[in-house]
Amino acid sequence: MREIVHLQAGQCGNQIGSKFWEIISDEHGIDQTGYYRGDSDLQLERIQVYYNEAADGKRYVPRAVLVDLEPGTMDAIRSSTYGQLFRPDNYVFGQSGAGNNWAKGHYTEGAELVDSVMDVVRKEAEPCDCLQGFQLTHSLGGGTGSGLGTLLLSKLREEYPDRIVNTFSVMPSPKVSDTVVEPYNATLSVHQLVENTDETFCIDNEALYDICFRTLRLGSPTYGDLNHLVSLTMSGVTTCLRFPGQLNADLRKLAVNMVPFPRLHFFMPGFAPLTARNSQGYRALTVPELTQQMFSPVNMMAACDPRHGRYLTVAAIFRGRMSMKEVDEQMLTVQDKNSSYFVEWIPNNVKVAVCDVPPRGLKMAATFVGNTTAIQEIFKRISEQFTVMFRRKAFLHWYTGEGMDELEFTEAESNMNDLVSEYQQYEEVGVDDHDFDEQEEAGEEYPEEE
Ligand code: GDP
Repeated sequence: MREIVHLQAGQCGNQIGSKFWEIISDEHGIDQTGYYRGDSDLQLERIQVYYNEAADGKRYVPRAVLVDLEPGTMDAIRSSTYGQLFRPDNYVFGQSGAGNNWAKGHYTEGAELVDSVMDVVRKEAEPCDCLQGFQLTHSLGGGTGSGLGTLLLSKLREEYPDRIVNTFSVMPSPKVSDTVVEPYNATLSVHQLVENTDETFCIDNEALYDICFRTLRLGSPTYGDLNHLVSLTMSGVTTCLRFPGQLNADLRKLAVNMVPFPRLHFFMPGFAPLTARNSQGYRALTVPELTQQMFSPVNMMAACDPRHGRYLTVAAIFRGRMSMKEVDEQMLTVQDKNSSYFVEWIPNNVKVAVCDVPPRGLKMAATFVGNTTAIQEIFKRISEQFTVMFRRKAFLHWYTGEGMDELEFTEAESNMNDLVSEYQQYEEVGVDDHDFDEQEEAGEEYPEEE
């Protein structure tokens, strides 16, 4: 069995992480106390990927480590309906808080907690039969999930250099949060993610807000509303890891299919159909409708327009009972009609999987994972917000006060700008066409010289 160790850090990380466990426990027939109450062998066939079997051999326990620098969010999880599911020793927390300061999470307060977190991680990793890797849920805009979260990623890399590291990273948006230093925290984090993860699902609060407000018509969306979309997405993208099947069946296969260049591993997730919390799609969609929606810019969980870029690679996961043949036909049609949006130098860069088990409350659903050059729009947005403040050195003393050097800000800024340029470079049309354009321009200049 190929096991995954899950970590969740900070307020956002813990809130979306525990939602993930709620949803997948339900999908696998695991009740709030860890007992199996399901009705299909499919639910248990790969249960060891995310769950340990308790010593009594009857209960399933999430292979999850819950981390925070203050007790509040974790107290709330512990006393929630699924709170008893987690191993009590795997709640690791401090008392100080990170005050939305990346430096506190990464260098001071977080550094004091990191060894005790790694002790718990080791306890989970060691008994694994064949550990495939790690996944972390966190936000990039705060202090703990971003600062301590990325510190944990570098420790994981150091200790498990040949295991895959995957993150679900929530990108900050001023539409959702009112903390002004979030662009600093996010840029410092991206600097780390570029080097220390193999795959990062970019979950963008700006997109979640827009979906809630525009598509689902929720006047003032709460974190509960946003996190409902996050949980649909996380359940969707992990389907192939959790249920039997061939495509992208483990984290390494996913990385091999999706990541053509090591730094360009930031994925845009999408989901169809979009539904509000506690409401169900009033009508089942057809395969053509699902396919059309899953490629639609308004169904993307990152506020980037895929039509502004090109797809390097795509994975699509359909769930529910449907005709494989129809799915294949529809997917080919999309690619044929939009061939200019897929780089031509990676043939067959769209992969499709079908899983019989639909998510709860839906007959059919589709999850999208795109490695698109348009993802640079997130990094550009954050970079602009970073630069206007950094130019004036606004709020820097909060970071230098924790011992950070200004140079790390400069390096983080240029690493993120480099990332944008790299996406840009691969977005441009084929190298041959490019050379041809330049020759043409040179030709035009020739008569003027005469
Ligand atoms: P930390 O506890 O120090 O890691 O800080 P937070 O996780 O609260 O980080 C703040 C960022 O996370 C801001 O961008 C918030 O908008 C976002 N955030 C906080 N809680 C949630 C949540 O439950 N869901 C989502 N989608 N975003 C959240």
